Amino acid sequence: MLKGFCFAALALMLSVFSIQGFSESSKIYHVKIVTHEKSERASAASITHLLEIKKNYVTAYVNSFDLKELKRIFGSRVRVLKVYDWKRELARKRNKSKIEFPEGDEPYHTYQEVVDELNKLAKEYKTFAKVLSLGKTIEGHEQLGIKISGSGFANENKKPAMMLMGSHHSREHLSTEVPLMLAEYFLKKISTDSRFHSEMKNRIVYIFPVINIDGKIHDIQGQTYKYWRKNRKDNEGSSCKGVDLNRNYPVDFGGSGSSSSTCSDVYHGVAPFSEPETQNINEFVKKHDNIKTMISFHTYSELILYPWSYTYDPIGGLDEKVFAKMAKDMAEWNNYTPMQSSGLYTSSGDTCDWAYKEHEIFCFTFELNPSSAGEGGFYPGAEMIQKAFQLNQKPVEYLLEYTDDPYRVLNRRR
Ligand SMILES: [Zn+2]
Repeated sequence: MLKGFCFAALALMLSVFSIQGFSESSKIYHVKIVTHEKSERASAASITHLLEIKKNYVTAYVNSFDLKELKRIFGSRVRVLKVYDWKRELARKRNKSKIEFPEGDEPYHTYQEVVDELNKLAKEYKTFAKVLSLGKTIEGHEQLGIKISGSGFANENKKPAMMLMGSHHSREHLSTEVPLMLAEYFLKKISTDSRFHSEMKNRIVYIFPVINIDGKIHDIQGQTYKYWRKNRKDNEGSSCKGVDLNRNYPVDFGGSGSSSSTCSDVYHGVAPFSEPETQNINEFVKKHDNIKTMISFHTYSELILYPWSYTYDPIGGLDEKVFAKMAKDMAEWNNYTPMQSSGLYTSSGDTCDWAYKEHEIFCFTFELNPSSAGEGGFYPGAEMIQKAFQLNQKPVEYLLEYTDDPYRVLNRRR
């Protein structure tokens, strides 16, 4: 017993030392890991975020801490495909403090441009839209969004609502663009299409294009991408910053597919909702029990995912049928792959697991375009914006239509 305790204490000390001795590097590694079984994927997913899940391998963009961990577990089955050093890239840039997208990617919106766009829309469509805030991020930025309805906001909580969120993860910039474009699209349509206007009299759409503002700003500072995923939390006693916001929700918090190492890209934080960015979402959803459907946009892989994420077990019952039917229907438009979230690997502390478990919200995670690193991965270029919007406009409109009573989809004919 004592021996076991000493060993555990020693292991803990060593792991603390290894993190303390570790300083964040600017190197990002694109790696391929040979994995044959679900359990191996699960163990890799507890070290870092995985992409392109294939039968015999997975890929990932990892920092040097996660690379070291992967090599410790998987040895020579980890192959580095490419190394990118953002500090080297940044050294070439003239204005290192400039918060702007790299050349060619200017059509993407910076946080400030998102704010300007939301204010512009609310001004232009006064009767149908209002800017609102979830609250502030760690660095004090307002998580602004817009609410949209066909008949003003009296008795707001009585109208069935759909909530759209983008950019829980910093480097997934396309996931800001799609919900932002949807806001403009819905407002234009309310003003020009009388059938849609009348449908929207009994609906509210809440759209928050950027959840992780601090991370987004960091990821483009000096017009240099950094493959940054987490928020910008100063982790006590560690030289590594950031918490993975999509591991910070309460369902199975700290379980598989998340890490307790502050340096890991899937670090879950000290407690559920420890981060203001997720805490604000929690408070907002608690106050709005009219929210029946939700999409959290991410990139990339072209997937439509629904709970559970933390376990391979299906949710079961009628709700599972609704989720599966909705995901399949939506996939007919965007051609993404619909599946239960844990179909790839389990991960805990997930947004949709929480939204469904605590609030019975039919919540989907959309992993937007592209499907692979070869097509641009996290940084697929400006031409992808329009494409991703076009692909997802119909699926989101469909979800909105069934937001009053999601169970109605079970009677829908194809
Ligand atoms: Zn993501």
